[in-house]
Formats: sequence, C-alpha cells, structure tokens
Amino acid sequence: MLKEPVIIAGAGPVGLTIAEALSQKGIDVIVLEKDDLPGKEWRASTFHAATMELLEPFGIADELLKVGLKADHIHYRDRKTGLYADFDCNLLKNDTKYPFRLQCPQSTYVQIVYAKITERDNIEVRLNSKLVDIEQDDVGVTATVEGPDGTYKLRGSFLLGADGGRSTVRHLLNFKFEGYTLEERFLLVGTTRPFDQYLPDLAYVNYVSDPEEFLFILRVPGAWRLLWPVPPHISDEEALSEANVQKTFQAALNTTDTFPVVEHMIYHVHQRVAEKFYKGRVVLLGDAAHVNSPLGGLGLNSGIHDAIDLSHRMLRIFGENGQNVDAEFETYAQARRAVALKYVRSISEKNTKVMTEKKEEERLQLQREMAETAADPQKAHQWLLNSSLLLSVRDQGIGKAPQVS
Ligand SMILES: Cc1cc2nc3c(=O)[nH]c(=O)nc-3n(C[C@H](O)[C@H](O)[C@H](O)COP(=O)(O)OP(=O)(O)OC[C@H]3O[C@@H](n4cnc5c(N)ncnc54)[C@H](O)[C@@H]3O)c2cc1C
Repeated sequence: MLKEPVIIAGAGPVGLTIAEALSQKGIDVIVLEKDDLPGKEWRASTFHAATMELLEPFGIADELLKVGLKADHIHYRDRKTGLYADFDCNLLKNDTKYPFRLQCPQSTYVQIVYAKITERDNIEVRLNSKLVDIEQDDVGVTATVEGPDGTYKLRGSFLLGADGGRSTVRHLLNFKFEGYTLEERFLLVGTTRPFDQYLPDLAYVNYVSDPEEFLFILRVPGAWRLLWPVPPHISDEEALSEANVQKTFQAALNTTDTFPVVEHMIYHVHQRVAEKFYKGRVVLLGDAAHVNSPLGGLGLNSGIHDAIDLSHRMLRIFGENGQNVDAEFETYAQARRAVALKYVRSISEKNTKVMTEKKEEERLQLQREMAETAADPQKAHQWLLNSSLLLSVRDQGIGKAPQVS
C-alpha cells in the first residue's frame, strides 16, 4: 500500500490546485510553503475557457464566476492608429460553456482554493517551511525542510515541485531550464481609475502595439492594469518610483492626471522550459517546469492544466498501488512539454512580436494578418480555440493514460 503522503513544494496556485485535486479524492497531502501565507500577489488575472472547464468539477469555476468579470472581446490595437483586430469570444459558444476570458486576480484564486483545502483533515499546509533538499529511493522520497522550529526530514510517497520559476526542486534535480530571457523588463501598474475614460471603447483585454512603448491593458474587478516595457538602462528602483509610475500612466493614457496606485511590480520576462519534467518519484509542474511571456495570459492557466493532468495520473498510481509510475510520468512529461512548447510558447511569442516588432513594415504585416484572422469567423474561431487552450486540451488530452504497447 502507498501509505505515505504526497509532499507538494509550494502553495502557489498550481501547488494548491493539485493539493485540492488529490486531497478531495482521499489522498494524504502535505504542502510546504516557504512564506507565511500562500500567493498574496495579484500576478495573473485571466482564466481561459479550458481552465474554467477543468476547474468546474471542483466547484471552483462557479466561485470564480461570482467574483470575476467576463471579457468576451479581445482587442488588438496600435497606439497611433487604434483598434485593428477585435476577436469576439462568443464564436466559442458551441465549444464551451465559458465563451470568454474570466478576469480575476490570481490572489483571489489562491484564497478560494486555500479555503477549500484547509477544511480537509487529510491535508496539512506547513507555512514558513522551505524545502531545501531531496533524497529518493524506489518507494519514496525524503525531503529536508527548514521549518519555524528548525530543520527536519519528512518522508513522502512522491514529491511534486510546484515551487515557481526559481524552483529549488528543479535545481536539486539538476535539470536545465532551456530558453531565453528578454532584455526588456515589464512594469505592471494598477489603478482604481477607469481607463476607458481616457481610451474609449477599450475591451477588458487589450494588446496595444508600439515599437518602443507597447501596452497590455487589462481590467480586473475594481481596477485596471497596465503592462509597460522598461528599457535596460532604467533600474528596477527607478522604474518602480512613484514619479515613474505616474509618468507611465500619463504617457499610456495621454493625460496629466494623477492616478491612485493599487499595484506596481517589475516583471522579468522569460521563455523557458525544463529539459525534463520528472526524475523517479519527483515531478515538476507549473512555473517550476515552464515560464513564458505574460502576453497571452498562459502561465497560470497552463500550470493549472499541469496540476489537473498530473492529479489524474497520481490517482491511477494510488488506485493501482504504485504500478506504472514511470509510464505515467513519462506520458505526463511528453504531453505537458508539448503544450509548453507548441502552444504556450508559440501563442505568447506571437503576441509579443505583434506588439513589439520594431520594423514598421513587419509590424504592419503582422497587424494585417491579425486583422484578417479576426474578420473571418472561421479563422477567428480557430484562433480563439488555440488562444483559450481549448485546442491544446483537445489535441493532448488531460491526464490521458499511457498507451499499452
Ligand atoms: C506580474 C505577473 C503577471 C502575470 N500575469 C499572468 C497572466 O495574466 N496570466 C497567466 O496565466 N499567468 C500570468 N503570470 C504568471 C503566473 O503568475 C504564474 O504562471 C503562476 O504564479 C505560476 O504558479 P505556480 O504555483 O507554478 O508558481 P508560484 O505562483 O511562483 O508559486 C510558487 C510557490 O512556491 C513557494 N516556494 C518557492 N520555493 C519554495 C521552497 N523551496 N519550499 C517551499 N515553498 C517554496 C513560493 O513561495 C510560492 O508560494 C504572471 C506572473 C507575474 C509575475
């Protein structure tokens, strides 16, 4: 019998999602979180249709619908010439119950899932507890944890590394994090003042191209958010100063008004995927396994998909008393690496290019292609299936059992 708990490193949205999926089915779980509370930062703010579908059986989609905003149009704009492509998400109405992007901060999602799991007896979340080392053998894993009362060892049946982009688990497994980092950083600022009083007809999700100062404008409940490029010669400190934050709002919205600031952070943009997703009984998921540009709202979403996919495999492994571990994890790694590379990277790179391309002719050509896609219902439908991750779920499945040879 597999009696020892599953250890999850990281109580971010992805770690909590798999903790919920496993504990709900009676598997004992211990979550280690190095901070004093799980995921307080707003960070991601979009839940795609495919993610809402995967969260529905846990009752989480309904909880999100109560607090989120439905974005049913996605705008592509140019800072000088205005709107050039308007994608109507209602084209997905025959594909999903959720033909929209649900706008809601990641921190709200974390609170919803955390409240659910803390109600259960078979799950323990250890805060201020940092995973620092791992040893494994054929039947389990021993984690070394630095907790509030000192360092101790913890035995588990498996260890799931959901410990974010700088993952300790990935480092301990010695896996390369292949890809690149953009030279420009993104400044993310949020205010309670409505942006549509400055830029009329804004959608809740807007990708605005400009060779120097592109914008990503998003609405969440109670606030508007703006992502803005920070050139390499400006320090993080300078970019985050009150004067620069106000200058950013003013330049983006073409005004001299002062804005109440509810959020400001600097975001380093990476496109990286781990060379391997598991070793023995230790598996990576979420940002620990892959990170991407935020232009597409895919990091959090694809991490939640990893968690649900892996939970199906863990449930089969526990149901079969530890059979097929390697085949399950190998199938997981192949499917989820394919999604990270062929869907998430390709969508987010394309969005980044159409917004930031410096050569005018190329930028205009990309904009023309995007406009043509949005204007043709068939092409727009296909584009929406892809960007909402419905296509990746159709192609790769979620938690598909390994093929018997
Ligand atoms: C500014 C910003 C905007 C973003 N916008 C979007 C968006 O619009 N859409 C989208 O889909 N994605 C977006 N993302 C990406 C999204 O936030 C991440 O993909 C998501 O947080 C990944 O979740 P995670 O649980 O894998 O990792 P994290 O959220 O990083 O959580 C990891 C957790 O592990 C803990 N931890 C780390 N190391 C250890 C350790 N050794 N021991 C114990 N605990 C540990 C951390 O404290 C943390 O709580 C954005 C990210 C940022 C920074």
